[in-house]
Amino acid sequence: MPKVSASRPSSKPKLGQHFLANDAAALRIVEALGDISNRTVLEIGPGRGALTSLLLRRARRLIAIELDRVLSAQLRMNFALAPNVEIIEGDILAIDLDTVFGPKPGTRRPGIEFTPEPVPVVGNLPYYITSDILLRLFAYRRYFDTLVLMVQREVADRLAAAPGGSEYGLLSATTQLYARVERLFTLPPSSFSPPPKVQSTVVRLTMAPRVEHLKVPEAGFVNFLKLGFGQKRKTLWNNLKERYKPDDLRAALTKAGIAPTVRAETLSLEKSAALFRALPAASAGD
Ligand code: SAM
Repeated sequence: MPKVSASRPSSKPKLGQHFLANDAAALRIVEALGDISNRTVLEIGPGRGALTSLLLRRARRLIAIELDRVLSAQLRMNFALAPNVEIIEGDILAIDLDTVFGPKPGTRRPGIEFTPEPVPVVGNLPYYITSDILLRLFAYRRYFDTLVLMVQREVADRLAAAPGGSEYGLLSATTQLYARVERLFTLPPSSFSPPPKVQSTVVRLTMAPRVEHLKVPEAGFVNFLKLGFGQKRKTLWNNLKERYKPDDLRAALTKAGIAPTVRAETLSLEKSAALFRALPAASAGD
């Protein structure tokens, strides 16, 4: 079993480097992925390898993307003898995921559509870019089926929140448009080195896109949600009137059975979709 090197670079707070120092929690995170013996797994931000060393023993293949050059080099060295691990030095927000998970050059056959093998994703995320990472994974969801992610506890609350509650917002709506959310367990700052200032929660997101079921075009509906949640203190009417004519808006709200005084935070995705469908597409921008 490859060992993590004894000489350790200091952590870079700007990169969200709080390394997991709780073996039992690391095991629970990896086990939350289920049986991965036959799967390729993507790890985001492997850091010093707390999860990596467990994953490589269980997964058929492991692809780990780490931004920090020094950590990537160390991981490559530490896991050089593990034939099923690929450490990619790169930014999870910028790396071309089609190149990593899409069809390999020369393997495409004319007339045969490429069907990716879905990959589970795991990571103790750098908290400063949690939402951006989630949105990117949703954008590339054709490659992923399960996401087991450590996030800041308040973010987990938002991901899992139900409409009408104080935690429900654009991130909740967007996440629940693409995935079922389970909160698994919460860890105190002392489970990390150096300890962060916040509590951390592991969530499991199972990809289950609802776009088709809601009968809405994806890009247009996501933009509509952004507009509706636009300014938190404004009513739905005041946020939407930026783009829709008052007569169209009034008619659509009536048709969808929604009072103009409500805020977007109180609407279920079904209700938002009903409103979106009742509005004229032409004035929706896209
Ligand atoms: N997985 C390790 C663990 O549990 O101990 C490290 C987790 S640490 C919270 C987050 C890791 O993500 C760090 O290693 C950091 O360098 C890396 N990271 C930060 N920004 C990143 C990015 N944009 N792309 C890939 N990795 C990133």
